[in-house]
Amino acid sequence: MDRCPQCDEAFEPGYSVCWRCGTSADGAPPADGFVPDEAPPASRAPVVRKLNCLRCGEPMVLSRRMKFHEGSRTWPVGLGDVGELLVNRESFDVHACASCGKVEFFLA
Ligand SMILES: [Zn+2]
Ligand SMILES: [Zn+2]
Repeated sequence: MDRCPQCDEAFEPGYSVCWRCGTSADGAPPADGFVPDEAPPASRAPVVRKLNCLRCGEPMVLSRRMKFHEGSRTWPVGLGDVGELLVNRESFDVHACASCGKVEFFLA
């Protein structure tokens, strides 16, 4: 398990940038615009949006908060151009409709 050279926080699996202070595994300082997360990944509480599915009108539920770091190319397969757009943002929330399966992404 890699740990942050700055604050000794464990990196999330697959990431080379500290989620807490933005320091890279090689000790590089945080990127411009880095916004530290206020809590460990397990206890993060994404904003809960009250959404109704655009397709069927059923309430949508927050599926998970996903986090990308600039330069990584690890967005889910199938996002295409949307993935290109999102990869420059810190994170986004995924809402899903339990009724019809529609999934929507929201920038966090
Ligand atoms: Zn750190
Ligand atoms: Zn639906």
